[in-house]
Amino acid sequence: MTTSLSQRLQAELTGLKDSGLLIHPRVLDQANRARTSVDGQQVVNLASNNYLGFADHPALKEKAEAYLRQWGAGAGAVRTIAGTLRIHEDFEEQLAQFKHTGSALVLQSGFTTNQGVLGTLLKDGDLVVSDELNHASIIDGLRLAKATKKVFKHADMQDLERVLQENDTDGLKLVVTDGVFSMDGDIAHLDRIVTIARRYGAVTYVDDAHGSGVLGEAGRGTVHHFGFDHADDVIQVGTLSKAWGVVGGYAAGHHDLRQLLINRARPYLFSTAQPPAVVGALSAALELVQSDPSFMERLWDNTRFFKAELHTLGFDIMGSQTPITPVLFGETETAFEASRQLFREGIFAVGLGFPTVPRGQARIRNIVTAEHTREDLEKALAAYGKVGKALGTI
Ligand code: PMP
Repeated sequence: MTTSLSQRLQAELTGLKDSGLLIHPRVLDQANRARTSVDGQQVVNLASNNYLGFADHPALKEKAEAYLRQWGAGAGAVRTIAGTLRIHEDFEEQLAQFKHTGSALVLQSGFTTNQGVLGTLLKDGDLVVSDELNHASIIDGLRLAKATKKVFKHADMQDLERVLQENDTDGLKLVVTDGVFSMDGDIAHLDRIVTIARRYGAVTYVDDAHGSGVLGEAGRGTVHHFGFDHADDVIQVGTLSKAWGVVGGYAAGHHDLRQLLINRARPYLFSTAQPPAVVGALSAALELVQSDPSFMERLWDNTRFFKAELHTLGFDIMGSQTPITPVLFGETETAFEASRQLFREGIFAVGLGFPTVPRGQARIRNIVTAEHTREDLEKALAAYGKVGKALGTI
């Protein structure tokens, strides 16, 4: 008998519920700021990707409003038909200059950027080598690619070299890595990755969703941090939704890369261009980070303070090097319980368990931002001390 829709939905949802994976997203009653209201409760927010506090910043909102009034609510079409407004091109030029690349192309999200670029660039006979902890959007992007796909052990340079050695091809070779890993907060060893990739004639592809606005001068990102920003054999992609506070994705690199993506990248070709208000806010974000270094200074001051104090309390922060600060609890249920107890103490921080992270490594992922005050972080640390002791973690 044919499966009915309700049978399918019930079966799937029951499966999720039985394995403890059914998601009920918490709801913010106010803008996403360092202190906000979640499900009716005032909290210190350690769950956002709003690294620089730009999501609700007046400068972004003002320029968004100006672009909304002048250019309209929507772009009106896909970029290749009638949706490319002057402000799209101007922003891409601004972004390319910021990234020190020949060009940049903006897509609807970081997720679709990985699908668009990987799906376009890689052909039959090519080789792509991907870090095992790369983001889901890279994994999905690679599903669209016809190349031979190989995975190397996380941040293991010997394994990367082994895979390149064992899988030679005359086609294009691409080494793909996150710039900053989203669950552990460690920085890719780009200096060594690019050197090894070059030894085998491979191009390096860096998804810098969590490095842009966080690392490098004025937040130019992980590739700048390692000095490869002018290199034509390093492709930078990323999101405009985390440190930049809004939404969108980008690919920055050689001018010909942009040209090819305009012609072939399916999310670019078949999905409507970004609305003017988004472009305005993003343009203001890039201006702000370059004119005022205090955002990044506060981000890193807060990061150093929070990490050091968690360590002093006796928590394992899993070698994180960036504002992404995991706190290890081990079992999934312990991490989820810790998150619930922290919430009762007025701290919003999300628990992550298997299969999002490996078994036995369930954690709470905290993201420190420039907007947090010392008082916010001290409140969070006091709550962590209490919850960690109650659960026997410290
Ligand atoms: N790449 C990485 C490494 C990410 O962490 C994310 C964010 N979840 C994305 C891509 C997707 O970005 P976006 O939210 O803009 O789709």
